[in-house]
Amino acid sequence: MIFLKSNDELRFMDQANRLVHRALQASREAAKPGMTTAELDALAERVITDGGGQPAFKGYHGFPATLCTSINDEIVHGIPSPNVRLKEGDILSVDCGAIVHGYYGDAAITFPIGRVSSKAQRLIEVTKMCLEDAVEQVKPGAHLGDVGAAVQRRAEEAGFGVVRDFVGHGVGRALHEDPQVPNYGKPGHGLVLKPGLVIAIEPMITEGSWQVRIDRDGWTARTEDGKLAAHFEYSVAVTEQGHWVLGREE
Ligand code: MG
Ligand code: MG
Repeated sequence: MIFLKSNDELRFMDQANRLVHRALQASREAAKPGMTTAELDALAERVITDGGGQPAFKGYHGFPATLCTSINDEIVHGIPSPNVRLKEGDILSVDCGAIVHGYYGDAAITFPIGRVSSKAQRLIEVTKMCLEDAVEQVKPGAHLGDVGAAVQRRAEEAGFGVVRDFVGHGVGRALHEDPQVPNYGKPGHGLVLKPGLVIAIEPMITEGSWQVRIDRDGWTARTEDGKLAAHFEYSVAVTEQGHWVLGREE
């Protein structure tokens, strides 16, 4: 079932996403070689609770942390740990959710730790462009297929893979609502977007094959071929005029 949001609901979601973006930015600024992903997680949790929100992922189906921290060939859902230290040359994907007045925010970024290979840098840049291209498609009357196709076109033109096993989603009073938002599709196909719909668009892009495997921890999803992956995400509202990237400083 799809829930369209009122303007008041969108304002709460904007606040929740502001906290998420603040936590992501703080993580990015703090992340250095030698730091553990558990330290980043504690920092992000503090940013969210100091801002009056609650971490959305902690306890979600038993997930133990505020952030998902996914390094190099890990795509999504990596678990922060005091035993995982960042190294020069890693790429780190950080995904974060927050709840404000019962409404969810959900966003993610990928960034380099120190100097990284030019290929890693390009994967990060292309994945960010996939998200920006997808956001440009969001307006009343557009189709979900337009959104997925925009991601797929940008990724595949660059020679990268598009993960199929995980998709974006509606978001609001729950972290995951209908509809599913795949990162592939056909223009002009799928659900027609209406004002008040909010979707989390989250391209997960791989350097090689898009095939995925899940670690024994039951969470961490990594590329089957061991090549790099990147992930960016915004929560995006459909408005009468087009779209609103919730929580983003304009
Ligand atoms: Mg997310
Ligand atoms: Mg999401």
